[in-house]
Amino acid sequence: MRICVIGGGAAGLCALRNFAANLNNFELVAFEKTEKVGGTWVYNEKTGLDSNGLPIHSSMYRDLRTNLPCEIMNFPDYRKMKGDKFSTATHQQILSYLQNYAQHFQLYQYIQFNTLVEHVKPEFKDDDSKTVWKVQIKNLKTNQIFHEEFDGIIVCTGQYYQPNVPKIPGIETFPGTILHSHSYRRPEDFTSKLIVVLGASSSGIDIGIELCAHADHVYLSHHGERLVSILPPQLTQVMEISRIEKNKIHFADGNSVQVDAIIYCTGYLITFPFLDPSCGITVDNNYVYPIYKHMININYPTMCILGINNKVVPFPMFHMKAQYFLAYFKGELILPAKNEMMEDSKLKTEKKRHAHALAEQQWSFNNSLAKAGGFNPLPPFYETGYKAWWSLRKSNLWHYKDYKLIIADDNKSVDISLE
Ligand SMILES: Cc1cc2nc3c(=O)[nH]c(=O)nc-3n(C[C@H](O)[C@H](O)[C@H](O)COP(=O)(O)OP(=O)(O)OC[C@H]3O[C@@H](n4cnc5c(N)ncnc54)[C@H](O)[C@@H]3O)c2cc1C
Repeated sequence: MRICVIGGGAAGLCALRNFAANLNNFELVAFEKTEKVGGTWVYNEKTGLDSNGLPIHSSMYRDLRTNLPCEIMNFPDYRKMKGDKFSTATHQQILSYLQNYAQHFQLYQYIQFNTLVEHVKPEFKDDDSKTVWKVQIKNLKTNQIFHEEFDGIIVCTGQYYQPNVPKIPGIETFPGTILHSHSYRRPEDFTSKLIVVLGASSSGIDIGIELCAHADHVYLSHHGERLVSILPPQLTQVMEISRIEKNKIHFADGNSVQVDAIIYCTGYLITFPFLDPSCGITVDNNYVYPIYKHMININYPTMCILGINNKVVPFPMFHMKAQYFLAYFKGELILPAKNEMMEDSKLKTEKKRHAHALAEQQWSFNNSLAKAGGFNPLPPFYETGYKAWWSLRKSNLWHYKDYKLIIADDNKSVDISLE
């Protein structure tokens, strides 16, 4: 069977690694539009267009350190990352880990670089009893277009590259700098400026705090619960923006401030521009439908999408999902009836945007994949480590990245320390 992996980031590499362990059953081809593995971890100092003529994919900024300890970012079958003084890693360290993973499992042989997947469409063979996938790809070096056929498709194109920019009344009158976090690179670019950072999820908090060392003041604007952590004195939490009048930003509670720059940390839009409507997948405000277990295309189960969950520990989850899809392909797992899968795919959150946010549920979700697929669950330190770390982060957003996670020999208990 021919399997196509779209994307050579962490998810695509993990899919390749798991299917490559069963090569007597599968022929593998991965298409990656850039010239490197690593996806969003391939930092690019530039913004705008990449050397391949497409928008830059990576959303990394220069000084980013991971918000998770690297010990629990490890894939369970390649535990090579371990904090030295502290557990958070730079984007260079994560990229190098992913490159080593690709090297170690000899994955480069399957990847065609500078190759954009432009179009994917199901086609029916043998009196409609078999679906094959028609894939149109473009060699970005030669501009040549090719068509190939596959029995299975694993979509691993990421979810953090298409900026989500909300419309704010009066934004067109703002004379200062306006930027989305996708194009944010360095805090020095904002030296002595007054800045409003919009959004207090991971990027908003992280960028807001790193700006404090250079900016005059940072206003962190959001409508969520007030953050309870100690924060730098140069950062003030404010309500969401109601309107903008030139440099003056008005907030929902009637307060206002004058600023020089607005940085949108308002997240990303999930999009699959290459999927033909006949693939049967729709995306509405980041709710991907209909998919079973946040991954399997219910209309055509030989297609899965690996990386759309958020508020999770992504690398180990990719490992579980890839094994689940592999078990299905090998006939070791029978999917439930269509109506049961449709039930699983129904929206269960108030907002569509949060449909694939798992948070606390990620551990039972991962375990359910292992149980159904008949493979090993994740070692318990992933869950205990995540919970201990997230609780530290909540109370100390300013300095949690300086701590170290220590995993005990039983692979379950963890400790957190500060050197
Ligand atoms: C700023 C930021 C900070 C983060 N911090 C952390 C962290 O601390 N810890 C953590 O675990 N996770 C973090 N993440 C989450 C991160 O996205 C995941 O860890 C993981 O790297 C996602 O991998 P992926 O393969 O799904 O997507 P990506 O890394 O985005 O890879 C997708 C790949 O698909 C390719 N591609 C896309 N479309 C096509 C196409 N049509 N044809 C061919 N190729 C295509 C892209 O070029 C890219 O290489 C962070 C993300 C961001 C943006």
